[in-house]
Amino acid sequence: MSGIDTLPPLRDVIAAHGLSARKALGQNFLLDLNLTAKIARAAGDLTSCDVLEVGPGPGGLTRGLLAEGARRVLAIEKDARCLPALAEIAETYPGRLAVINADALGLDVSAHLAPPIKVVSNLPYNVGTELLVRWLTPPAWPPVWQSLTLMFQREVADRIVAQPGSKAYGRLAILAQWRTTARIALTLPPEAFTPPPKVHSAVVHLTALPAPRYPADPAVLERVVAKAFQQRRKMLRAALKGLAPDIEDRILAAGLTPTDRAEQIPIEGFCALARAVAG
Ligand code: SAM
Repeated sequence: MSGIDTLPPLRDVIAAHGLSARKALGQNFLLDLNLTAKIARAAGDLTSCDVLEVGPGPGGLTRGLLAEGARRVLAIEKDARCLPALAEIAETYPGRLAVINADALGLDVSAHLAPPIKVVSNLPYNVGTELLVRWLTPPAWPPVWQSLTLMFQREVADRIVAQPGSKAYGRLAILAQWRTTARIALTLPPEAFTPPPKVHSAVVHLTALPAPRYPADPAVLERVVAKAFQQRRKMLRAALKGLAPDIEDRILAAGLTPTDRAEQIPIEGFCALARAVAG
């Protein structure tokens, strides 16, 4: 019996349901329920929240979320082989776990969740960044979710929390930190997973700010940042060529220097640049 519920240990669940890990689905399972409870706790108080979990697999993190008191968990799993194991968890926590067998990339879950909403997932690596970008670019801000607590490859986690001047600083850092506070909550070695991936992993916790840190049109900011980092070693005046005929004047109007390089410019500078370009 595990420390957090009366269900069988995950190794037995995987054997009973024949859940051999499939690489194409990014399946690296967490079998230590103390660890999954720790990840659930990194999301803060769940007791009054609906939690969205993408990719529950055999349900290790799902069990952590429910044991930590989540009001309701909505789990989206692409692999139908996992459904019987998840149904057993749903029986143990009546009325608190709903499972949808679908590709999370093609699904609008808003109708299935009630605020306050937190997203907590050990994401499949192949779709993790795409889902994060979607959650960070909703049609309006603040988003429907309060926080995102997500497992990524360590290298991606470092890019999310990166500061100006570092190699990892770029589009993902600006996108994430413009409208959230983002920090690494815990790091995990490959051996924490079954089977172990090739790389280290980290859980990133992002809390939505009520409003962006600095004013800017999201679409213009995205265009400016994408162009600036396309060739990150180039000076701004060269990198942003084509964005506006008088781009050098606009860079100066934003309080920046045309010879600056993208990786040195803080988020505030990019927002000023987006306003100058839009204006
Ligand atoms: N949460 C489990 C754990 O921590 O042990 C499993 C995590 S595993 C890294 C990723 C899970 O996401 C797998 O169960 C996989 O089948 C599922 N998955 C992969 N692509 C998906 C997609 N597009 N939509 C929903 N689930 C997906």
